[in-house]
Amino acid sequence: MNEKSSMRTATRLVANNTLEIADGISLPVPQAIQATTVLFDSPSRMLPIARDSLDLTSTGRHAGFYYGGVGTPTTQALAASLSALEGGESCALFPSGQAAIHAATAVLAQPGTALLVSDSVTYTTRWLFDQVLARQGVRVQYFHPLRLDVLARMISAPGVAAVFMESPGSMFFEVQDVRAISGLCRSHGVASILDNTWAGSVLFDGFATGEVDVVVLSLSKYHGAPCGVSGGAIITREQDHHMKFRNFGALIGATLTSDAASRIAAGLPNLPLRMQRMADGADHILATILGHFGTIDILRPCAALCSPDSLWQRDFSGANSLMTLRLDGVCLPSMQAAIERFRVVRHGYGWGGDVSLVNLVQPNLWRDFPFGGRDDAYLRLYVGMEDPLDIADDVLRVLSSVLQPRA
Ligand SMILES: *Cc1c(COP(=O)(O)O)cnc(C)c1O
Repeated sequence: MNEKSSMRTATRLVANNTLEIADGISLPVPQAIQATTVLFDSPSRMLPIARDSLDLTSTGRHAGFYYGGVGTPTTQALAASLSALEGGESCALFPSGQAAIHAATAVLAQPGTALLVSDSVTYTTRWLFDQVLARQGVRVQYFHPLRLDVLARMISAPGVAAVFMESPGSMFFEVQDVRAISGLCRSHGVASILDNTWAGSVLFDGFATGEVDVVVLSLSKYHGAPCGVSGGAIITREQDHHMKFRNFGALIGATLTSDAASRIAAGLPNLPLRMQRMADGADHILATILGHFGTIDILRPCAALCSPDSLWQRDFSGANSLMTLRLDGVCLPSMQAAIERFRVVRHGYGWGGDVSLVNLVQPNLWRDFPFGGRDDAYLRLYVGMEDPLDIADDVLRVLSSVLQPRA
């Protein structure tokens, strides 16, 4: 994307994360430049008000700014950093991951067409597709995240507009063959969209390994959660796609504020370091649990400690700090009572920040293709920035109240 793109991630994150304030003079942290009104020295420099005004903002002297909500130097700086990080060409910013997913799918899947969705998507994505897109006439069809043969049949049906992947999947972390799926999409003239949030812009390069058209991100997790900021992004390689997403956001007024963009940008250079620290913590907790209880089922696409997943090894440079525990033989009421006892790990939704979290979840209740039994309950654990020894103590203490240690 620019001359610095051959550098390694950590270097790129620092080098690109600047805001030019005058020709040749820049700041190392993109400060929030707030604006609603943008002033021009002559009316001839202003955009004409016409149906295609938004398209004109992408070209020539109208590039960039004409009205604060649509783009500021701060949001442009964050967009540039994110698209470089994800290996794309352009990035459109949104106030949440949900808004980004909505824009990507609403633009690519028109009413009357079909949107094929991996069954492993997070529940909020499913709510959006079922309760908004489906009601607007998009045929939303779920596919088993690992059944390429089934997807190949579904994609051959008439009217398929786009395929939506999330890999590793929410809750069970199924690793999809993003390269094969996006290749299948390309050969059928169908758009491919990947929710790459799990990887935190660090662990998986959706564009390099596949032929993915569009990467969507929730910035409310590893990127923004440490400073309490929500955001979303759509990264693309095609300018044509990019303009449609950006214009969709502008038309419905779904834009990211400069303040939010500045806070997210300020945290970017530390993102790989934080993720590494939390992944190390998760490794430690996982090893502690396995050492103590032996047979417990822990789901995390991590070759070091779980069963190696060749796709994960092929595509990912590491694991994040989420894991799901299946406690066989423990009934729901005792699990509900047990999780009350967590002290270091807290109860809450919205992972990605400093605080470790635990949730009792029953994902099979809402999935089309259950991973295990319909009613099975799982603990989803997010490892944050506390000392891993303290988190491990907390987890062991709680699990010991419902499980026997190994013989
Ligand atoms: C959180 C999340 C979303 C939704 O993002 P928001 O910013 O909370 O709207 C989408 N996809 C994945 C994988 C997520 O984890």
